[in-house]
Amino acid sequence: MNVTQQILQYAVPAFYQLGIWRVQYLQSVCCICHTNPAVLQKECLSNKRSFFWSFICQDCHDSINWQPEVLQHLVSVDKANNPQGEVTACPFTLDIQAAAPHTSYIRSAIIAFKYKEQVDALPVLVHAIHQLPRPHGCHALNSVIIPTPTTSNRLMTRGYDPVSILSYYLSKHWQIPIFKGVSRIDDVVSQQGLDRHERQANINHAFKLDTTPAVKRLLLFDDVVTTGATLTAIAKTITTVCPDAKISAHCISHGK
Ligand SMILES: [Zn+2]
Repeated sequence: MNVTQQILQYAVPAFYQLGIWRVQYLQSVCCICHTNPAVLQKECLSNKRSFFWSFICQDCHDSINWQPEVLQHLVSVDKANNPQGEVTACPFTLDIQAAAPHTSYIRSAIIAFKYKEQVDALPVLVHAIHQLPRPHGCHALNSVIIPTPTTSNRLMTRGYDPVSILSYYLSKHWQIPIFKGVSRIDDVVSQQGLDRHERQANINHAFKLDTTPAVKRLLLFDDVVTTGATLTAIAKTITTVCPDAKISAHCISHGK
């Protein structure tokens, strides 16, 4: 793990956590509508953890269709990817579970946090992360969360990695550790403006596994899924090296 990754793992979540605490303890109204009292409504939320848990009111919570239908993507396995030239893994279906559709205030919060680094949007995204159920049978001893890695160029330009920060909250929510052994090697062509087929072809060889995870349940995580090409490519990369891994994918929102 290099110095930047270490900073992201410890210092940056601490910085963002201050923003979360500010909202939790100082703001008494809903982060979305700014009218309904969030504190009074919190006790009505079925998934509340504590008095100061929720950031949004019940009405705003209920306006989102949480946990939309699971997306399924076929992950094929290429011979060319395998160092031995033999296919040991079988094609499989990757299930992608989103917390919410990419609409309404979820979409606005993702754009604000991801592209404008507005910390105020983070509590909404953390609320969305808390709607993702921990996959059945997964726990800290048999599973890891694998955040979609960003390119080092993008990290240099943006100065921070939104998915890494969000995965920290997913890790806290599920009590499952983060695995940082997947990296991105291709930084040439942006995925924007490509159709589904072109995206998949462009990104299939964009990831590599630096170390093999010690567990078999691998929970991929990304902020937004549009076509699913990125998560499918990561699953394909991993399964070539770890043919017996059980991989599923999770994201905050799905859609365009
Ligand atoms: Zn509200």
